[in-house]
Amino acid sequence: MAEPKENVLMEKIVSLCKRRGFVYQSSEIYGGINGFWDYGPLGAELKRNVKDLWWTSMTRQREDVVGLEATIIMAPQIWRASGHVDTFSDPMCDCLLTRKRFRADQIEPQSGTAYHYSGARDTGSGKQSEDAFAVLLPPGKPPESARKTAIQFYQQRGLAQVELLGERTEKVENSQRFNPDNGALLTEPRPFNLMFKTYVGPVADEDNVAYLRPETAQAIFAQFKNVLETSRQKVPFGIAQIGKAFRNEVTPRNFTFRSREFEQMELEFFIKPDEAIEAIHGSVARPSGPGHPGEPQANWGWQMWHQYWVEERIRFYESIGLARETLEEYWQKPDELAHYARATVDLLFKFPFGTQELEGIAARSDFDLSQHERFSGKQMGVFDEELRGAWAKLDDQRKAGLSQLYYEARLKYMLKMGIEKEKAGKEAREDADGLAKGQYIPHVIEPSAGVDRLILALIANAYSEVTSTDEKGKAETRVIMKFHPRVAPIKSGVFPLLKNKPELVAKAREVFELLRKQEQVFYDEGGAIGRRYARQDEAGTPFCVTIDFETLGEKPELLNTVTVRHRDDGRQERVAIAELPAWLQARVR
Ligand code: ATP
Repeated sequence: MAEPKENVLMEKIVSLCKRRGFVYQSSEIYGGINGFWDYGPLGAELKRNVKDLWWTSMTRQREDVVGLEATIIMAPQIWRASGHVDTFSDPMCDCLLTRKRFRADQIEPQSGTAYHYSGARDTGSGKQSEDAFAVLLPPGKPPESARKTAIQFYQQRGLAQVELLGERTEKVENSQRFNPDNGALLTEPRPFNLMFKTYVGPVADEDNVAYLRPETAQAIFAQFKNVLETSRQKVPFGIAQIGKAFRNEVTPRNFTFRSREFEQMELEFFIKPDEAIEAIHGSVARPSGPGHPGEPQANWGWQMWHQYWVEERIRFYESIGLARETLEEYWQKPDELAHYARATVDLLFKFPFGTQELEGIAARSDFDLSQHERFSGKQMGVFDEELRGAWAKLDDQRKAGLSQLYYEARLKYMLKMGIEKEKAGKEAREDADGLAKGQYIPHVIEPSAGVDRLILALIANAYSEVTSTDEKGKAETRVIMKFHPRVAPIKSGVFPLLKNKPELVAKAREVFELLRKQEQVFYDEGGAIGRRYARQDEAGTPFCVTIDFETLGEKPELLNTVTVRHRDDGRQERVAIAELPAWLQARVR
């Protein structure tokens, strides 16, 4: 099948990333390792900028969010409580001929004629194989081709002169049961756990198994009580973390989009259950329509908070150059939601290979903390003085109503977790009694973003080409990486007009030293000025500063001014060196 046209763009992006030092294949000198990528000098700066911007907007600029930096390897019980040991798996199947492994749900559907064989016989030794096999041929291919593949299959099972048995054909439409590369039948899908396993300590046995974290979120739940007690925060508040996560993805693909080692930026924002809000405020504020709901209010229920975080996250993407039109909101349908989730919005970006998830924002109820409470035996709830006071003032009917709602929610959770009915009923009742005393397990809204996917989105979004014709009439295509100045790896390039004029070089070095105190600047004196501009355009540097003879006072009125060139339109303007740091700061912050 012809490659989709978009991949031409992806190929250009991948090659630019390597050529300019944004992203390299990990371990490239040894042939690489599938699903692992390294960031080169420009990529490392870009990534750092993105993480700093996320961290600043999520924690430092907010009074209600604090940070955490936890370990990658944690007690393995954490992954039992979270459900990852039991259910964090993808359906996977293998090619019966080549053993190549596929994610069952990602196989491109095939149509054609399937040739089935019930087994085969070795006409020399008389040995038989009763393994069934099949090959799918696209329309128009001769049956011989299927037989050739089938013969290979039985040869691998020890038959030398293969006679195929029981050939029958079947028309097949849009099937995911065959290897798209060679038509061979695949095994039935089996669950494959995506966590990387290792051993802690000198003994490599089952007692010492540990996992590399497949997400950063669980550490936040596990440290919830410590943070609550040491940070002087009260619900509603959030804990944010940036860090590595590892998933042994069956089919890593689309460059860094699906990697086996990647970074996440996650926030767990803890809120009061709606029953507590209603007890305190008399009613629960719910969204009245789409859009940003404004500054957080004390009477917001989980739906308001969820909508708030979806809109905050979109604003963040806009602030770093991803326009709203490049994003899409996908509200998961009820049958797609994880059993504990009340709502999940995926923020999708229009990647060159398709519109795909950049970030998920999930309303996860009180599932996570409840799980850790059950598995660790430690209390994960909070005591809320305001709730206790408010509850005491409610009339009996209101108390009974809210208590019943809370009881039902807790009971539902426990039954879902397989807790026996009687025990579940008793514990749910205790929880409802606890609510009346001001106790509850906080609910959570989780915006969870991938750094690497965002970097890829920013690179794809920035990539643009311009074609110009030189004096000799030769067309030349150049790449301009139109990064938002906030994320651009280099904020400005500083050039002396000529390399062989010591006064120009000295002045340019002076400007360079002045600017590098505040931001990432690149000094370049090599080659024609046009080449130097072009190099910075490819790196995505928003401004280039040139020191010329006018800077030195050739025209007295221009003494100590420089030419600043804008990347996206080539516009040039004259700025005084004394004003330059502030001029740039205003444009790159
Ligand atoms: P997908 O369905 O694409 O595998 P997911 O829904 O499993 O993703 P989450 O578990 O919600 O992803 O992880 C949160 C974020 O982490 C994702 O939105 C994505 O940005 C990032 N992420 C997840 N898996 C990978 C991966 N293999 N490579 C790079 N980033 C990833």
